[in-house]
Amino acid sequence: MKGACRASTVPTDRLVKKATEFLQKYEPVRGYFLADSGGKDSSVARELCKMAEVKYFAGYSNTGIDPPEVVSFIKHNHPETVLLRPKENFYSLVSRKCPPLPGRRWCCEEIKERVGIDLKRFYPVHITGVRAEESGKRARTQKVEITRRMGVVTIKPIFHWREWHIWDFIEKHKLPYCSLYDEGFERIGCVTCPMIFQPNQAKLNIHKERWPGKFRAFERAVKKWYDRKQMVDCPHGSFEKYMEAYYRGFGKKKRESKEKQTQMFREEFGK
Ligand code: SF4
Repeated sequence: MKGACRASTVPTDRLVKKATEFLQKYEPVRGYFLADSGGKDSSVARELCKMAEVKYFAGYSNTGIDPPEVVSFIKHNHPETVLLRPKENFYSLVSRKCPPLPGRRWCCEEIKERVGIDLKRFYPVHITGVRAEESGKRARTQKVEITRRMGVVTIKPIFHWREWHIWDFIEKHKLPYCSLYDEGFERIGCVTCPMIFQPNQAKLNIHKERWPGKFRAFERAVKKWYDRKQMVDCPHGSFEKYMEAYYRGFGKKKRESKEKQTQMFREEFGK
């Protein structure tokens, strides 16, 4: 079974019961907005909505830089999910603003969160498949949050699930999932996101080989930005050197504290 390291011994069935009760408790009159990313976690959240028999409207922010396999998976397996597009595409935004940086991840808001904003506001309670285990930053958030920027409430029914719970649930319920997981991809978001490559440079080459067109388009957009900024005093000396440094990361990323996540999980489930 994938994600077989059982850091928590809470059985999946117990988490399923808790999650469905949680969804029923917060169900709004109009139903939820379900943020469907096409990943395994949001697929589980979607299935839990069905089990809890709550109403939901599912939307996918079609960023244009996700793997085409994800878009295809959603179209074939989540037919009710509506594909939402940003007003301005990612590459145009990059050439106008700057490439995304660890301290400046402007595109998460522009091409994901704010996409279909009017529709999202019509459904003021949102469900996401975010889990505490994914990162220290996510672990420090709450299971129910009010997003002040967008004025919506976000609930996270699988917040305390471990990866093995997700795969256990997928196997038991025979849920379809994106084929990239079977090829060894652990995260299947934006393929050119520099945040993926900083802890693991090997991933950069894997992504470049797999989706060369996306990297060409991305680098063309960065070059436009670079030229427009007339970065003659660029400390890296040239655009090519700048890109090398960019992919390496301009600073070290902090690794998340697993201990903190374990402590939060124990507080929630008394294990
Ligand atoms: S995941 Fe990375 S590339 Fe994708 S929107 Fe967020 S910062 Fe940008």
